[in-house]
Amino acid sequence: DSLDFAAPSPVATSLEEKFGWGDTIDCVLKKKMRVWCCLPDTKWGLGKIQSVSGGDANVLLSDGKVLTISVENLLPANPDILDGVDDLIQLSYLNEPSVLQNLQYRYSRDLVYTKAGPVLLAVNPFKKVSLYGNDFVSAYRQKLTDSPHVYAIADSAYSEMMRDGVNQSIIISGESGAGKTETAKIAMQYLAALGGGSGIEYEILQTNTILESFGNAKTSRNNNSSRFGKLIEIHFSSAGKICGAKIQTSVLWLGNIDFSVIDNENHVEVVLSEGVVNAANLLGCKVPDLMLALSTHKIQAGNDNIVQKLTLSQATDTRDALAKSIYASLFDWLVEQINKSLQMGKCRTGRSISILDIYGFESFHKNSFEQFCINYANERLQQHFNRHLFKIEQEEYTEDGIDWTNVQFVDNTDCLNLFEKKPLGLLSLLDEESTFPKATDLTFANKLKQHLSGSLCFKGGSGGAFRICHYAGEGQLFKLMQWLGNTTPHFIRCIKPNSKQLPGIYQHDLVLEQLRCCGVLEVVRISRSGYPTRMTHQQFAERYSFLLLENLASQDPLSVSVAVLQQFNVPPEMYQVGYTKLFFRTGQVAALEDARNHTL
Ligand code: ADP
Ligand code: MG
Repeated sequence: DSLDFAAPSPVATSLEEKFGWGDTIDCVLKKKMRVWCCLPDTKWGLGKIQSVSGGDANVLLSDGKVLTISVENLLPANPDILDGVDDLIQLSYLNEPSVLQNLQYRYSRDLVYTKAGPVLLAVNPFKKVSLYGNDFVSAYRQKLTDSPHVYAIADSAYSEMMRDGVNQSIIISGESGAGKTETAKIAMQYLAALGGGSGIEYEILQTNTILESFGNAKTSRNNNSSRFGKLIEIHFSSAGKICGAKIQTSVLWLGNIDFSVIDNENHVEVVLSEGVVNAANLLGCKVPDLMLALSTHKIQAGNDNIVQKLTLSQATDTRDALAKSIYASLFDWLVEQINKSLQMGKCRTGRSISILDIYGFESFHKNSFEQFCINYANERLQQHFNRHLFKIEQEEYTEDGIDWTNVQFVDNTDCLNLFEKKPLGLLSLLDEESTFPKATDLTFANKLKQHLSGSLCFKGGSGGAFRICHYAGEGQLFKLMQWLGNTTPHFIRCIKPNSKQLPGIYQHDLVLEQLRCCGVLEVVRISRSGYPTRMTHQQFAERYSFLLLENLASQDPLSVSVAVLQQFNVPPEMYQVGYTKLFFRTGQVAALEDARNHTL
């Protein structure tokens, strides 16, 4: 029972620096209390307090050893009755070792899903786990189980869409290889089972295979990495049946043509190969024309065209740019064809569930424009996530007159400004530099250093290097975010438990890094202290008033609501009454819904 991660640094100055985020010991230490000890060998050891004297505690570790340790190096651990809880908001003490241990406890028992308040955490099992299929679908549909699952998320999206008539989105994020695409498929399977009947659900499931075979590439992180963000919109009729679907895709790369250097200035010619011949045939052009186009550069000088030979690196760039644009058009064409075949034209209700599978932040030793775009997309997504779960939440409490102590959250506005500010943001500067004929990587990097050094998120390096400090750690992007902004979001965070893509290995540091960067602990803190479920007085009264034994039909919605709450003995600390809405702690409305379902 020890966790080998993130040793509190001996030079740490603040509590946060020392222990990460979360609950520290601020209570009276009792005998037998479970604690996390920060061991000298950079591990967290679980133990029980035997005695305390002065500033030191004697702790019995799980391996039987007794350790004398300064109280300052202890964190509270949860009682063993809470081992492996299925929602982190149930933890009495919320700190990094407790959360990590909880996820590991579940992972080692193939319980790969855990709730973090409203967010579903999915730890990639890298093996077949028996959690899917028809029996599981029925169990979730009939609410026979409330164990966290992608099916449960898909079910609440479907139920909320049917109940409120509002479009829903399921946003799946996480690092490359964390399991986003698989998770999206699992969600689609559930929705297909629920809304199926017309046969289109099979077509939707098939599209995954087609898109994957075109869009995926093997990277060092994931053998089957999606090189595109994918948004599939599934449309439902008012009866809740699937009546159509649409796919959007926030772009791909390829290139198999080689060059040979022909002089000592590094100029090149295309090697005549099967690749060039096939490419020329497919493009419908002559082989020598393509070879010339790929190895030379035409410049207009007055009325003359001057043909310049390209150097190896210029030619490689040209080839890649061409391949990218051809491949992107092919992919767009494919998506369009799929969309055509999926549209049945009978969807007038406009109800839909969108499933967004988006690549996570990427950082390699050498990062290209591709990582730049991917990480920018993720910053936007992170902002959407933050906005939804933090800002909106707090604003809503404040507006409705609910007493609410502001909770701090990590804000990534600075980083987004670094990308988007005009005229001195990364994107504008790149646009500008691209129009200069003599621009190089180095002049671009220097320009960035000159203008952006004031930002905390930008760090210049030597030569052409620079670094962007992303949150933690607009291919269409703006449109996508706008669209998502109009739907009720459901979040799934996929977590990669190890970098070897193997089952059964849980690397604490890696998991912790992912939890930290997506703000999961903060989400849990908000959720357990707040009132996550809310309804207007009107909605509440309309939904539950028929359960009242007494007829209060003539009364105002608030009085009716209060009468319902009293009849069902909902404890006063479990809800708050706002000016327009009722706010409930987690689990309260579920009990009322239960009563309602039994009566209906
Ligand atoms: P991402 O889309 O996040 O890059 P993928 O969804 O492609 O990652 O998952 C990477 C690999 O992990 C998959 O090819 C699969 O082998 C495995 N995997 C992911 N989720 C599951 C799951 N729920 N059950 C079994 N294996 C999974
Ligand atoms: Mg993927």
